[in-house]
Amino acid sequence: MSKSKKIIIVGAGPGGLCAGMLLSHRGFEVTIFDKNEEVGGRSRPLHLNQFTFDTGPTFLLMKGVLDEMFLLCDRRTEDYMEFQSLSPMYQLKFIDRDFNVYSNPEKMKLELQHVFGEASEGYFDFLENEKRRFNALYPCMTRDYTNLGRFFSVDLIKAIPWLAFPKSVFDNLAQYFQNEKLRLAFCFQSKYLGMSPWKCPALFTMLAYLEHEYGIYHVKGGLNKISSAMAKVITENGGEIHTSTSVASLIIEQGDVKGVKLENGESVFADEVIINADFGHAMTHLVDKHILKKYTPDKLEKLDYSCSTFMLYLGLDKIYDLAHHTIVFAGDYRSNIKHIFHDKTLSDDFSFYVQNASINDDSLAPEGKSALYILVPMPNNDSQLEWSDHCASVREKVLDALSERMGLEDLRSHIECEKIITPMDWQEHESVYKGATFSLAHKFSQMLYWRPHNQFEELGNCYLVGGGTHPGSGLPTIYESARISSDLISKQHGVSFTPVNHSHWLKK
Ligand SMILES: Cc1cc2nc3c(=O)[nH]c(=O)nc-3n(C[C@H](O)[C@H](O)[C@H](O)COP(=O)(O)OP(=O)(O)OC[C@H]3O[C@@H](n4cnc5c(N)ncnc54)[C@H](O)[C@@H]3O)c2cc1C
Repeated sequence: MSKSKKIIIVGAGPGGLCAGMLLSHRGFEVTIFDKNEEVGGRSRPLHLNQFTFDTGPTFLLMKGVLDEMFLLCDRRTEDYMEFQSLSPMYQLKFIDRDFNVYSNPEKMKLELQHVFGEASEGYFDFLENEKRRFNALYPCMTRDYTNLGRFFSVDLIKAIPWLAFPKSVFDNLAQYFQNEKLRLAFCFQSKYLGMSPWKCPALFTMLAYLEHEYGIYHVKGGLNKISSAMAKVITENGGEIHTSTSVASLIIEQGDVKGVKLENGESVFADEVIINADFGHAMTHLVDKHILKKYTPDKLEKLDYSCSTFMLYLGLDKIYDLAHHTIVFAGDYRSNIKHIFHDKTLSDDFSFYVQNASINDDSLAPEGKSALYILVPMPNNDSQLEWSDHCASVREKVLDALSERMGLEDLRSHIECEKIITPMDWQEHESVYKGATFSLAHKFSQMLYWRPHNQFEELGNCYLVGGGTHPGSGLPTIYESARISSDLISKQHGVSFTPVNHSHWLKK
């Protein structure tokens, strides 16, 4: 590159930061704008008095992908963060039993026998078969699909049988486990994609496999530390990050993006612009509604979106003896899923997830205190629910459920401070289209070539990164989206780069 090319990135979420890290390492002049005071987007810290919470992601899966992004920048993650592998990974609470889930097969074997009286052959078949599925599909999931020609690859043809189309994750698990609750223990992960296990394509059985094969990690200080570590690499490389700086619109001339107009009126120009802001939000707020053809406001409205979440963050003057991660299943899980995804109504009998990270990480709460994070999957804002009316009663129901299902009877008297995020808050304050926290749904017709392309098909000099583009929502795939877009930009400008090498971590 004779003269370094200028890249603007709209948004310092995990996707924008990872792209910023890779491109600044390759010599591009990177400038990131984010409207928030701190970097990280949905993966930024939330500070309440002396308590620290992660706003969104708390499960770090496929740590190898994160390691790889740092290696591509000649860095080691361990030099920037402190990781802890969790054992058990999490506890599952069904109405009639608790089940501790380990990534150690010997421990899993004992737990399966103890809790389900089940022989472990099905579990070992699951590990073996799903490894083959994952290893066949991962190369396809990490290619770019900027044109249909890229779609028909040898890798994809070889992987077609592994798609198990049109089976769902729940159906696919029938080959390993007969007990319905046991199947739920291996398919609730569809919620990571904001989808129902009865609708989520079978290929995503790989999510449970990834946990069991590669483990789940906590980062000291919370997963938000990944965002600050990436920001540090960007500034070390000479990149600039402007927080509290909102982008008002893209500057578009004859279909090409030339730069951005900031909320303060300033125009900033670049050779390429990367959009990390939530896809639906960006297309409806940063681009004039007459410019796009494929993603007009009407067409965006009709796409399928993930569920939303009701969040309750509690600073407590007490420490409870709870696992780091606990997932509590509704008594009637199938009905709860139907309420969220189909009826788009509230459930009285609901599932929820509780993170008690301060049990393993004393940096999150003062001595003798704890930071409890509660996530309740909810319908996205297609529900038309009036959250200002429902917020207080849902809070009470969540506190009741914590008491009844987790034994925290005295919880209310130990709350020092709290914050709530409703599906409407995600939309209005966090700029998430329809409050769909996990972005566009991951059904076949919205994946691979059919998801908004990394090299955005509607605008020149414009790339996408984050949960709304290929390969999809979830930290590892978001990092891959950043890597794919960065590689495309590097090729475009004739900049050489180290190609990705999954063999650093992929188990054959
Ligand atoms: C509650 C919750 C729990 C989750 N849990 C997990 C988990 O455990 N594990 C996992 O892997 N994934 C999880 N995810 C999914 C995913 O990893 C996160 O949502 C992730 O933060 C998404 O990253 P992103 O790069 O797509 O964008 P975002 O994090 O949404 O970042 C986009 C950024 O763009 C900025 N922006 C928007 N508009 C503008 C503008 N006009 N001008 C300037 N800046 C703008 C925003 O401020 C934001 O910082 C979770 C998500 C949520 C919400």
